[in-house]
Amino acid sequence: MHKRDAVFLEDLCPKLRDRRWRKSLHEYTGKSCIYCGKNSESIDHVLPRSKGGLSITENCVPACLSCNGSKTDNNAFEWYRKQRFYDPRRSMAIRAWTEGDIRLALRLLKWAEPKRTENIEKSKSLLNEDYSWQAA
Ligand SMILES: [Zn+2]
Repeated sequence: MHKRDAVFLEDLCPKLRDRRWRKSLHEYTGKSCIYCGKNSESIDHVLPRSKGGLSITENCVPACLSCNGSKTDNNAFEWYRKQRFYDPRRSMAIRAWTEGDIRLALRLLKWAEPKRTENIEKSKSLLNEDYSWQAA
């Protein structure tokens, strides 16, 4: 299939676009939960949908089922602060993510979990941006 056909297909089929979008969110963090670092198996709405949270990248983070299930409709930051695995660097990463600064979020996550660095390195290409800041 040609690339143009794929784009066309996505326009016709929003579900396919949604699936791709979700996949890309997981790829950003190397398939790790933004809260605890375990495997991300779901997408969590930072501001719950029940409270008007939108299904956009800034409001949707990769999360494991355990975090997603335990957070439910709580405020993400308040809930996270009470967790045993709370890490202020991750909290900052979530904040950056919700502000649309995925690059900063990934940088903070990398700091929080150096062993995941390899996966996060891979996600750089997804952002398709200049990473010269990393040299600093
Ligand atoms: Zn988790």
